[in-house]
Amino acid sequence: MATPVSARFTSFIKVDFESGCWLWTGALSSQGMYGGFTNDSGQFCYAHVFAFELLNGPVPDGCIVHHECHNPRCVRPSHLAAIPREEHYRLHFEERRQRSLKRAAECGSLRESDLTVKQIAKKVNLSTSRVYELLHIHRDTSAALAQAA
Ligand SMILES: [Zn+2]
Ligand SMILES: [Zn+2]
Repeated sequence: MATPVSARFTSFIKVDFESGCWLWTGALSSQGMYGGFTNDSGQFCYAHVFAFELLNGPVPDGCIVHHECHNPRCVRPSHLAAIPREEHYRLHFEERRQRSLKRAAECGSLRESDLTVKQIAKKVNLSTSRVYELLHIHRDTSAALAQAA
């Protein structure tokens, strides 16, 4: 007898008790960011999308299954939500912007403590060109804030 697909699916899940996330331990999608799972029709799909659809039915047209826990490897249905594509894009765009601003401030204060760009890059684990970019962003935001004050 073939193993039911749900049992096959759950055999790849490891619960992370700290975050409550169900981490996917199986194959990864081609970009390596999401879990990948082969369904009973032999189709390779995103593991989180599979989990979502198992409980909620097909993802509505024009929607993306989003991780509310910000953990791309998580497949816990209660951590997932189907949201319209544009809304999803906006959400991640804003998230990325906040993250760069934070990193920019971090690089800026390291620069003020007289570290070289090379040293900063090593410390924050980014390329030197990215650090230059972030320092640029930091200078721009500092200038804008000074003007606003
Ligand atoms: Zn999660
Ligand atoms: Zn998302």
